[in-house]
Amino acid sequence: MSDRLRRAVEERRDELVALTRDLVRLPTVNPPGDAYGPCAEFIARRLARSGFETRLIVAEGEPGHTDRYPRVNVVARREGRHPGRTVHFNSHIDVVEAGHGWTVDPFEGVVKDGRVYGRGTCDMKGGLATSIVAADAFIEVCPDFPGAIEISGTVDEESGGYAGVGYLAKQGLFSRPRVDHVIIPEPLNKDRICLGHRGVWWAEIETRGRIAHGSMPFLGDCAIRHMGAVLEAFERDLFPALAARRTQMPVVPEGARASTLNINAIHGGQTDDFTGLPSPNVPDRCAMTIDRRFLLEEKLEEVKKEVTDILDALVRDRPKFAYAIRDVMEVLPTMTDREAPVVRAVAAAIEAEFGRAPDYVISPGTYDQKHIARIGHLHDCIAYGPGILDLAHQPDEWIGIDDMVQSAHVMAGAIDALLKGAAEPARRDSQLS
Ligand SMILES: [Zn+2]
Repeated sequence: MSDRLRRAVEERRDELVALTRDLVRLPTVNPPGDAYGPCAEFIARRLARSGFETRLIVAEGEPGHTDRYPRVNVVARREGRHPGRTVHFNSHIDVVEAGHGWTVDPFEGVVKDGRVYGRGTCDMKGGLATSIVAADAFIEVCPDFPGAIEISGTVDEESGGYAGVGYLAKQGLFSRPRVDHVIIPEPLNKDRICLGHRGVWWAEIETRGRIAHGSMPFLGDCAIRHMGAVLEAFERDLFPALAARRTQMPVVPEGARASTLNINAIHGGQTDDFTGLPSPNVPDRCAMTIDRRFLLEEKLEEVKKEVTDILDALVRDRPKFAYAIRDVMEVLPTMTDREAPVVRAVAAAIEAEFGRAPDYVISPGTYDQKHIARIGHLHDCIAYGPGILDLAHQPDEWIGIDDMVQSAHVMAGAIDALLKGAAEPARRDSQLS
């Protein structure tokens, strides 16, 4: 990167801190989705000052959108002097609840020991501020740049992103020819590139029984005992098989390099919120929600069949066993090619900044890249941003100011390479998702 670009970033250090603090002070807690409007308007005003054309896009009709809690997204675009590629930085503006255990005000943006503290500093308002400052620095140094730079602030990532990136992708805002390269500044750390994520299948399994008086359970059929048999079969046959399955994807942490299954919830009989004395009944229904995370090497149909085979075996072997299964959510795994232009550009910028090649990682859970790949069919997309992932959603969440500045160097260098075509020769899109 040119010294001028470096200097233009350095000169914006105080502004980067101030911008992060301003964003943290807008408490965009999700759920329910507070302050989305004011936050989107703030970002729009800020980017308009840098010459961006801005649009507020409300996700009418999407889940979560109400008059009280409108789902307001902001998309900003700065056209260059000549036609060319478009680089897009997408950040989610929602944060999770503060929770307990804070030693500072979570929505004040306290600056201490070279860090900015607050809910969302790391995940991911610090990353959003970093991308804005990187774009500003680039525009100042290269006012005649070709192509365009886009920056968006989107809602609801923490709850699936359907009214955020999902909605914008459906409007064509994350597809070619409008956008070519996408960087999502999630806190994966300043020297790592996140290429994608594992797949997700959530399902609800229900076992059925027959209601009867609890003093004579032999006259009924207990749905919870049937679910117990499902759990037993999972323990015996499914969990060991999943743990033995390893992926070539560089998932971090290491434990997530296997297939995993979590049992998110199980309910049967009278509900927990019942406060009186329970009546003695044999439960005729028990429901369990499973959260299966799968690998690029696995097919979704096989993932599902592995579970239904176990359930079907119980139908054959266990008297009166009956079940139903319902899909709740499906996301395919995605992994951007290491030779994709956005990966090469960011990798080269990381190498220039830190003097060594980046680590390539895959996220154990999904994030908004899923919508960009699946709906936008755009595969030149990564997550790259400052902040330490382990601090996300924790009390006393913080982001390092030096880390943001270094990451802004990387982002500015990547914009420069992508818009000037330096990363083009190996252009080749991943078709893996
Ligand atoms: Zn995040």
